[in-house]
Amino acid sequence: MKDETKCLHSGYHPKNSEPGVMPIVQSTTYRFDSTEDIAAVFDDPTKALIYSRFGNPTVMAVEEKISDLEGGVGAMCTTSGQAANLLAILNICKAGDHIVSSPEIYGGTINLFAITLKRLGIETSFTNEDMTDEEIEALIQPNTKAFFGETIANPALAVFDIERYAKIAHKHGLPLIVDNTFATPILCKPFEYGCDIVTHSTSKYMDGHALQTGGVIVDSGNFPWDNGKFPEMTEPDPSYHGISYTKQYGKAAYIIKARMQLMRDFGCYPSAHSAFLLNLGLETLAVRMKQYCENALKVAEYLKTCPYVEKVEYPGLPGDHYYDLAQKYLKDGASGVISIVVKGGKENAMTFMNHVKLACNEVHVADIRTCVLHPASETHRQLTDEQLVAAGIEPGMVRVSVGLENVDDIIADLDQAFSYIK
Ligand SMILES: *Cc1c(COP(=O)(O)O)cnc(C)c1O
Repeated sequence: MKDETKCLHSGYHPKNSEPGVMPIVQSTTYRFDSTEDIAAVFDDPTKALIYSRFGNPTVMAVEEKISDLEGGVGAMCTTSGQAANLLAILNICKAGDHIVSSPEIYGGTINLFAITLKRLGIETSFTNEDMTDEEIEALIQPNTKAFFGETIANPALAVFDIERYAKIAHKHGLPLIVDNTFATPILCKPFEYGCDIVTHSTSKYMDGHALQTGGVIVDSGNFPWDNGKFPEMTEPDPSYHGISYTKQYGKAAYIIKARMQLMRDFGCYPSAHSAFLLNLGLETLAVRMKQYCENALKVAEYLKTCPYVEKVEYPGLPGDHYYDLAQKYLKDGASGVISIVVKGGKENAMTFMNHVKLACNEVHVADIRTCVLHPASETHRQLTDEQLVAAGIEPGMVRVSVGLENVDDIIADLDQAFSYIK
């Protein structure tokens, strides 16, 4: 099946006279006929549902759909994108371990890696885009367990060279984890380029309607966890009567371990109702992504000609720093987010922001409605102008998340807001 079809039909297969739409199975528990039946599930929780802290039919239908879209062997939903990235790492890292990450990633993930994981004893080395392969390889230590990057970085809009990093990681027996939130599997399928694990914040385009936060981890099934570096995958797990995940579950070892062990212990599993809403977003994901890309490219072209704008960053725009990588990884479009720098800095950017009428001022992206955010006075407001520049955030920078309104209305709104700049 092609993506448009998977969006509608993957994950739920009703039988004769069953509901046509996946129902909300609003129950924490599942009934059994006997204690023996329950005991059998405790021996192998993949055999049946037992408790909604780590498995629920409505959520699992969505997991199957997302896994199908990415081309994976299985997926696990979480209550947020943050939780997805946290568990993706903790599934293979413990205190004393180390990861290598691109620095062009979501701010929340930088905090997670540089501050919180560090406090838990997991260190991160950040690459930079000027490094040679040899310089990147030099960051790898004996305790390194994974590489991490983001297909289209939020908010830098850098395109990650998945194939290059997958080659380096694999040469050293390490998996590559890619956060594919901004591209979604409609625009890029990282597994096709050698990535091993994909994560998402489903709060963005997948949900699409700004209704609920969520995340997901998808397993390609391709990484050889039995290469000697990942004993927690191969050695007996004392919390499951000595199960070896690779021996018992083969290609799905990583994602089944994440559910059986981490989700059981951390319990950040979404509710059936959230999954039901997420599924509504997924049903139209393919058609929405096409329209986001089409609208964003037109808005980016308009902004490029706008006299109040100093700089436009959109990887789909010819001449953009990441245009060549976008041509390789994002053939069908570069998603819906554009970064601009308003001439005249912070004051003019704020004048522009305060006069948009159709676009919403909100701390969100990938909404179905166009929204704008001014990092210098909002998410990064504690920094001085000099610190902002050092952090790669210019005082006049505005992040525009282009929605699905008619593109002429979006451009007219931005245009009238610019006209207030003196
Ligand atoms: C928003 C976002 C996250 C965090 O997701 P939440 O659902 O807000 O926890 C992670 N990665 C990327 C790329 C994001 O845009």
